[in-house]
Amino acid sequence: MDLRRLTITSFNEGLRNKKFSAREITEEFLESIAEKDEEIGAYLSVFGDQSLDTARQVDEKIAAGEEIPELAGVPLALKDNMLVEGTKTTAASKILKDYVASYDATVVKKLKKENVVFLGKTNLDEFAMGGSTENSGFSVTKNPYDKERVPGGSSGGSAAAVAARMALGALGSDTGGSIRQPAAFCGIVGLKPTYGAVSRFGLIAMASSLDQIGPMTKTVEDAEMVFKNICGKDSLDSTSVDYAYEGINSVEDVKKLKIGLPKEYFISGLNKKVESGVSSAVERLKKLGFRFKEISLLYTKYALSTYYIVVPAEVSSNLARFEGIRYGRNSSPDSLRETYLKNRGEGFGAEVGRRILLGTFVLSAGYCDAYYAKAQKVRRLIKEDFDRAFEEVDVILTPVTPAPAFKIGEKVNNPLQMYLEDIFTIPGNLAGIPSLSLPVKKYEPEGGELPVGFQLMGRYFEENKILAVGKLYENN
Ligand code: GLN
Repeated sequence: MDLRRLTITSFNEGLRNKKFSAREITEEFLESIAEKDEEIGAYLSVFGDQSLDTARQVDEKIAAGEEIPELAGVPLALKDNMLVEGTKTTAASKILKDYVASYDATVVKKLKKENVVFLGKTNLDEFAMGGSTENSGFSVTKNPYDKERVPGGSSGGSAAAVAARMALGALGSDTGGSIRQPAAFCGIVGLKPTYGAVSRFGLIAMASSLDQIGPMTKTVEDAEMVFKNICGKDSLDSTSVDYAYEGINSVEDVKKLKIGLPKEYFISGLNKKVESGVSSAVERLKKLGFRFKEISLLYTKYALSTYYIVVPAEVSSNLARFEGIRYGRNSSPDSLRETYLKNRGEGFGAEVGRRILLGTFVLSAGYCDAYYAKAQKVRRLIKEDFDRAFEEVDVILTPVTPAPAFKIGEKVNNPLQMYLEDIFTIPGNLAGIPSLSLPVKKYEPEGGELPVGFQLMGRYFEENKILAVGKLYENN
């Protein structure tokens, strides 16, 4: 058995039937990281002994005949913007290069209770701003399918780790597409949950009204399993919601769901491979018995500009806390002014600086109404677009990205081109609805073909519907 090809579900079964131990699997994945990650660069730090320790505890429980939790022993990777007590958390920013977290993020706490084995922390665009990991303050991650290409971003390290079989699954965060776009570029599954479904406590904030943590896995089934173990109300995040996930088991019920195809998402500029990939997914779902309907999401064309006002505004306020005194990096020149200039000036990269400036501008007196307040109003219209659409259909199907993974360096000097990457994923964040990215077919990193994904969006807190359609798709 090739242990690296396991999914979370098949790992679970094997562990319970004693086909292997948790330790064996952890060793296997640490070895895989040692073999491949020098080239791919998915991880910023690897836990090693700490991972083996947890694995040993799981094996001891099994040997003692104890009941083990659902995710016990599963080797997972974490995007390096989630806090794990006592370990470095950098958000891939030089300003946090020495920051050691003093508490666990709620998702981490929940997964520790499950006895998950954390393998390490993965690379991202600095503070999750970007779509390629090229904005990381430390290094660029490579796409395991083609090492001259980006893995997507900002959760590019997590996506590459899963795709290159250096983890069974990972957590990412998604503010405008950062789980779904890298999932699509790397041929894996990524779920951005409903805003409020998963606690954001201990996630380094980018844009708080949009950020959500979610699973990145090899299969939809695995994503569901991780999601149901991280969702729910948390008293430490006031936007989190009481939510007990319940899957849909009846295939008949799933096939009754009506799927909408928004005409604004199937535009002429779409890359041919994406176009034919997504059409083949639609055809397959039709064969499975799903009914389709063309719908319209009228305000789609304003989503990108709305996002790039709301996000910088929130970024500029969230990142004000990094002044080089409290978190990690601390050079202490003579005056307070110098401290700010030096730490923020040297600590932040160009994209982060750009957004702080933009955000400060759109929030400043005299401009706030014209930009920020206006953007909030348009955001409402975009949300209402979806409300109307979901009166007609249960699930909405779209492409995830306009094209497959691009070359490293291709867009890095053109922020606008990079921003266009998220044109199909951003509306879901602005509206706060759950969105799933899944590959149109099974891909092999060695297969020489670049993956294409498609997106399923659902009503608030109806992750169960998009996951059910996704599971049916991947199993047929
Ligand atoms: N690429 C988008 C951005 O740069 C999305 C980032 C994200 O979802 N964290 O804002």
